[in-house]
Amino acid sequence: MANIFRNIPSVNELLESPQLKKIVQTVNHQVVVDGVRTFIDDLKETISAATDDIEIPAPGELAEKIADWLHVEQRPYLRPVINGTGIILHTGLGRAPLANSAVEETMAIARGYASVEIDLADGQRGQRVKAVEKLLCELTGAEAAVVVNNNAAATMIALATVATGKEVIVSRGQLIEIGGSYRLPDVMECSGCKLKEVGTTNKTHAADYSSAVGEETSAILKVHPSNFEVVGFTNTVSTKELVSIAHAHDLPMIDDVGSGALIDFAKFGLSNEPVVADSIKDGADIVLFSGDKLIGGPQCGIIIGKRKYIDQVLKNSLMRAMRVDKMTLAALAATLRLYRNTETAEREVPILRMLSMPEANLKLRAQKIVEQIQDQRWVKSCVVAESQSMLGGGSLPTQKIPTWCVAVEPQDSSVNRIAARLRSATPAVIGRVQKDTLLIDLRTVFPEQDMILVETLESLSTPPQEGSRDA
Ligand SMILES: *Cc1c(COP(=O)(O)O)cnc(C)c1O
Repeated sequence: MANIFRNIPSVNELLESPQLKKIVQTVNHQVVVDGVRTFIDDLKETISAATDDIEIPAPGELAEKIADWLHVEQRPYLRPVINGTGIILHTGLGRAPLANSAVEETMAIARGYASVEIDLADGQRGQRVKAVEKLLCELTGAEAAVVVNNNAAATMIALATVATGKEVIVSRGQLIEIGGSYRLPDVMECSGCKLKEVGTTNKTHAADYSSAVGEETSAILKVHPSNFEVVGFTNTVSTKELVSIAHAHDLPMIDDVGSGALIDFAKFGLSNEPVVADSIKDGADIVLFSGDKLIGGPQCGIIIGKRKYIDQVLKNSLMRAMRVDKMTLAALAATLRLYRNTETAEREVPILRMLSMPEANLKLRAQKIVEQIQDQRWVKSCVVAESQSMLGGGSLPTQKIPTWCVAVEPQDSSVNRIAARLRSATPAVIGRVQKDTLLIDLRTVFPEQDMILVETLESLSTPPQEGSRDA
């Protein structure tokens, strides 16, 4: 056994090989040394454990293998993905992709210094929310606005500002959980307020709210049930009615609208999503929503409403812990600017473009991809298939959007193995596994990615590299 090990080149010898020398130039020297050691140790272990003789590759070949392996190991954890899942706001894939103008503006601001908290008009200290406040007010009709890290933070700081130590009235039909880690009762507890539940799961009436108001009440909260629907014998109280009950007792009405639609999504065949401006029009004092759901901007939480309350939120110490950075502000401002003209937004905001993509167009693209893939060695069958996309991100789960997919069944390999190889490709491709078939939904694939998708699918005809993770 010891003799066999002697045939393995030393770490120093390997580091002298042209393949590894090249990597040392781009990666830290110690990282390469450690990588080579790990690879050699693994190789020795494999040899010791093997019952048959294992041939040790020639030094050049071994260096090549280590270089390939290091290359895979050194890839960033966060990598671009072609989204073939058909889920438009996929939280696992970072929700909304940004519009080009938002990307460009963010890059320009990221690269250097920016007027984050300096008013360039007079050189005085300014507030960072100024970068987006005017736009938010213009698009929603609100008096004032502020931005935090996400809608969970928006809810927390809004409640901590107006309701700490006091009661907040919420309908039992609106105590939602979103994506496992967001549960409204828990968020309320974190913010230090007391939940006062009223009504039942399916029916809550105006009288339930008004009779619950007491000495301890600090606000009425309405929450949009983004990710479920109660059908049948139901009743909810409108924003307008809640506002009048709250105002009769001098209390603020808080409306968590969730996805934050700035335009009516009924035009995309999606009903039931509240439009932010309607909530302001109905008199809500504080309105909360996400920046990276239906707006199609960066991850953030937006709080708009009456000046008096927004000013209180700005003064809350939690604000310092929840404030957004210059890149988020730049991306949000650029995205919001597109909404000044609805047609521009529909053309430029990627999620709106995906939603309005005609089915015929998707089918044609799927057919073209199928033609190029069906004769590949690893493919048993490849056809176009009708399916359904989803909005995702906890929005409108019951509403399916008709779509077309490339449906591919592999020849010898299992579909899960093919899915794994596609995940480790560059760029990674993620589809939907359905029994023995991998579905790639073209609604969430950018048309300019079609060629890359074909090339990646073609590359599966080459056997995987030994030593690479997907081997
Ligand atoms: C999505 C959602 C949240 C959480 O928003 P994040 O931006 O994910 O923190 C809160 N409330 C409602 C109604 C939502 O739809």
